[in-house]
Amino acid sequence: MSRIVGIDLGTTNSLVAYVDDKTGQPRVISDRDGQRLLPSIVSFAGEGVLVGAAARRQLVRRPQSTVYSIKRLMGRGYEDVKGELRYFPFKVLPSEGIVKIQIGSREVTPPEVSAIVLRSLKERAEAHFGEPIEKVVVTVPAYFDDSQRQATKDAGRIAGLDVVRILNEPTAAALAYGLQRLHEGVVAVYDLGGGTFDISILRVKDGVFEVLATNGNTHLGGDDFDRAIVRWLLDEIRGGHGADLSPDPEAMQELRLAAEAAKVRLSTDERTPLTIPFDAFTYSREITRGDLEGLIGQLVDSTLLPCRMALADAGLAPADIDEVVLVGGSTRVPLVRRRVHELFGKTPHSQLNPDEVVALGAAVQAHILAGGITNMLLLDVTPLSLGIETLGGIVSVLIPRNTTIPTNAREMFTTSVDGQRVVDMHVVQGERELAKDCRSLARFELSGVDPMPAGMPKIEVVFLIDANGILQVTATELRTGKAAAIEVRPTYGLAEGDVDRMVEESFTYAEADVEARLLIEARNEADTVITHVERALRQGEALVGAEEQQTIGAALDALRRARATEDRELIREATTAMNRATEHLAELMMDAALKAALASRRADQVLEK
Ligand code: ADP
Ligand code: MG
Repeated sequence: MSRIVGIDLGTTNSLVAYVDDKTGQPRVISDRDGQRLLPSIVSFAGEGVLVGAAARRQLVRRPQSTVYSIKRLMGRGYEDVKGELRYFPFKVLPSEGIVKIQIGSREVTPPEVSAIVLRSLKERAEAHFGEPIEKVVVTVPAYFDDSQRQATKDAGRIAGLDVVRILNEPTAAALAYGLQRLHEGVVAVYDLGGGTFDISILRVKDGVFEVLATNGNTHLGGDDFDRAIVRWLLDEIRGGHGADLSPDPEAMQELRLAAEAAKVRLSTDERTPLTIPFDAFTYSREITRGDLEGLIGQLVDSTLLPCRMALADAGLAPADIDEVVLVGGSTRVPLVRRRVHELFGKTPHSQLNPDEVVALGAAVQAHILAGGITNMLLLDVTPLSLGIETLGGIVSVLIPRNTTIPTNAREMFTTSVDGQRVVDMHVVQGERELAKDCRSLARFELSGVDPMPAGMPKIEVVFLIDANGILQVTATELRTGKAAAIEVRPTYGLAEGDVDRMVEESFTYAEADVEARLLIEARNEADTVITHVERALRQGEALVGAEEQQTIGAALDALRRARATEDRELIREATTAMNRATEHLAELMMDAALKAALASRRADQVLEK
């Protein structure tokens, strides 16, 4: 078996780890200078590329060509991220459903940028082992959707790596602490990094992890602590020296670095000196942990609401949590630990370095996959439901949210229009009843269908999610058995926001959504019946007498009028009356297929044209 390493590809920092064969313990691999964390920053300079700490030093000098926080753009469309682009000094452009970053005359995609970080970690591991490394486990946030996971896999491929498994970060953290060995239990993973906060509630049962709920804040982390300190320093300097440093990028960077360094020292020390030499003067003072806590108290408290919401989503109380795991560099701040301890009423796990646990867990998973540990089963779940848009814009779910992966599902669909040769397939993700309220994942065409009356083609749609959470959708027209050409083209950006919000909205709008769905279904059914009755009347005119024809005609008019209203009950009644009025005609018509078509069918099984 070839070696597999684990990689935490973070928004702020990335790192690589492996399990030591002799001790069976996971270890982080350092670079030549002994650095364990690699800042996830890439700086483009002419033909050259800098990565990590060297790239970070370019942030002030080359803001337009130094790319950071690329994880926020992975697998996202322009619509998804345009709201946060103002935070980036580099130029982000829309590009065929994804985004690109423009560096001078060059354009790079987010996976290409991440690949540079991954390649650097690959080289680190190769230098450590003295052999080529090709296989990796890479972690992603639990709320990452399929496009974001796919983009992460793409980054691996570009870096010359085979991503054998995409692993959820909270699951990795729980693995690092060996919590898969719990016979049964619930684990809360509190992850406060540089710019993001994630809370995940996991259930462990017989070695299997299931994500019960996730919540968080995509713009809250240690960077906000730094900014709070910088604002305070700016005020102090304005008061004491009469100098406003905010328009000076170099001075601001000095302040940021000094603020972060002081914050880090205050995680272990009660007080620390803060000295910043500027051109005109040197600023110097002491800052205490109390000062820091005063500055960041509200920020820390704002992480507690998402925790409570995640607990509520999981249907649990704080006391139901068996283990709490701290993840992310910012959980080294004593105030953060205190608050988490208070909320859950138990001491959180913090024996391992919080900014390393995800990579360590990825290494454990890699070790399991490489065959190092065989008596363990590891599974993840789908964060959101996956389905197909059907007639009237209704979603037909094939794989519900929280389904353990790998998994597959198949369902039969048909057409809504006579002679339809091309069927548009729209793959969506989300918890709402209507496709327009879900996230659009991909559209593709099933073409080359033989022209048939509506309702005749048998279209089998198969969803397949592999162990990495990557979704494959295929559609086949079974009646003709003809090889249909299918083209999957991902499109992004129907809905902004994350899993939590989508789940939350599905509760908020549950009633209205169901109403809307029922109305559309009633209309779809009415449309189907109208089409078939019209056809039956044309074909079977000679079979029935004038009186019966008139009865059917009257029922048809009534149904058309009902169809135009918003009254679901009325439409249903008119449809039933229509069916009754045509019973005799249907019997007379020998064509079994037409008979079947006249019988009411489930409208949600008809694909959107
Ligand atoms: P991410 O998961 O976002 O890539 P990390 O988990 O590496 O990031 O966390 C980075 C953040 O942790 C930074 O804001 C950094 O300042 C902060 N951090 C690291 N060490 C400490 C410390 N000892 N005390 C307080 N904050 C720290
Ligand atoms: Mg992280």
